[in-house]
Amino acid sequence: MRLLPSAFWMKNPMKSEAIIRGRFAPSPSGTLHLGNLLSSLLAWLDVRSQGGVMLFRLEDLDPDRSFEHYANQMARDLEWLGLDWDEGWRPGSDQCRQGNRTAHYENALKQLREKGLVYDCYCSRAERLAASAPHPGEAHDAGCGCRFLTEAEARQKRHSGRSPAQKCLIMPQTIRWTDVHYGFQEDPLQSGQDDFIIRRSDGVFAYQLAVSVDDIEMGVTRVVRAQDLMRSTARQIYLIQTLGGSAPEYCHAPLLIAPDGRKLSKRDGDLNMDYFREHFTPEQLIGILAKLAGLQATSSPIKARELVESFSWESVPRNPIVIPSELI
Ligand code: GLU
Repeated sequence: MRLLPSAFWMKNPMKSEAIIRGRFAPSPSGTLHLGNLLSSLLAWLDVRSQGGVMLFRLEDLDPDRSFEHYANQMARDLEWLGLDWDEGWRPGSDQCRQGNRTAHYENALKQLREKGLVYDCYCSRAERLAASAPHPGEAHDAGCGCRFLTEAEARQKRHSGRSPAQKCLIMPQTIRWTDVHYGFQEDPLQSGQDDFIIRRSDGVFAYQLAVSVDDIEMGVTRVVRAQDLMRSTARQIYLIQTLGGSAPEYCHAPLLIAPDGRKLSKRDGDLNMDYFREHFTPEQLIGILAKLAGLQATSSPIKARELVESFSWESVPRNPIVIPSELI
């Protein structure tokens, strides 16, 4: 189902340009922290200020790290902040959740296989993390020699009880794109070292594949997410183009870091919504985020929709933003 945005959000209703489609794409592995909230606010403002359609996709790919109560809480928290969406997942719905989209990922895997771009990998490194978005410190999968195993060697590995993961082979090429916020980027992808897991040995599809397939099939044209995912962008553009799709525009948002330089983590329960709900109103929290993002001069309380009209990426910092110590 595709809903058109209400006239309320149509800044330029007479323009005939294609309507942009953005997304919230949270993984329900914890409670949204301040950094997630900043990216969500910017993703929402980006779409609403252009009269676009906002989608909610639940990235519950990894059964070991996805919990329904976190998903429900994320949806309630975004609504509480006034960050609404037009399509996709809502509590209780089966739509638009990666856990239900295995057939789509199977189909993409088949297409890649037909192009000769899939090989079995018997290494266990990086496997555990492959289903979730790689953040700094969670290194990308390093190159391994599995691509060059002879049939006899592969058989021997299987006989020893190991089931393989599947990896995507990179055809060496430099991927170039212009990030809406960080400008021109290029990433020279190399065979071997940049090949990446697309399905874990336990059958769970990996983040890079799922997110690329979903962005194609859900018609996403604008991806706003935190800068720590910038390094995944070239792989996603590679996959999207290989699968015959056209890549969305990417717009990375600055990271929020603790005063000691530490990055925030959902799993560590950092500065999260449980705390904010107890101590702030939605307007106060949006006011703080708006100040951090350079959208207003002070942190005075404001509603998210009051920021739509004047929203521009120009005032948003590019360097990591240090959270003021009085918030910690
Ligand atoms: N689900 C990912 C996360 O919560 C975000 C994926 C993306 O925006 O590409 O970190």
